[in-house]
Amino acid sequence: MQEVREMVCIVCPVGCHMKVTSNEGQVTKVEGNSCKRGIGYAEAECTHPTRTLTTTMRIKNGEVPMISVKTDEPVPKSLLMACMEAINKAKIQAPIHVGDKIIENILDTGSNIVATRNCERKA
Ligand code: SF4
Repeated sequence: MQEVREMVCIVCPVGCHMKVTSNEGQVTKVEGNSCKRGIGYAEAECTHPTRTLTTTMRIKNGEVPMISVKTDEPVPKSLLMACMEAINKAKIQAPIHVGDKIIENILDTGSNIVATRNCERKA
């Protein structure tokens, strides 16, 4: 069955508004994209949508109570909430430094949760 979806390409800041036609999960036509990367985004979005997750998590004994973290690879969109739950349950201790792997291979996605700010131990 043919389906037409409107979507915004998030690959670059231009944010092209696209009309994507698919049939049985296969993309057959993409309109509104300014470059080929929009086609790749539309195909991925229709078959296996992924997102980079950015959030914060609690840290014990740190100079601040929360640090910012993100996935180092995009994870399936369907697992974003489950990833958030795993992050919220994790207990980590300061010190933490940018790039530290805080949760390896979260939910078997192949992606790691990494710190995006430093947090030293509180004095
Ligand atoms: S289609 Fe190309 S130009 Fe448009 S938002 Fe996507 S990457 Fe950027």
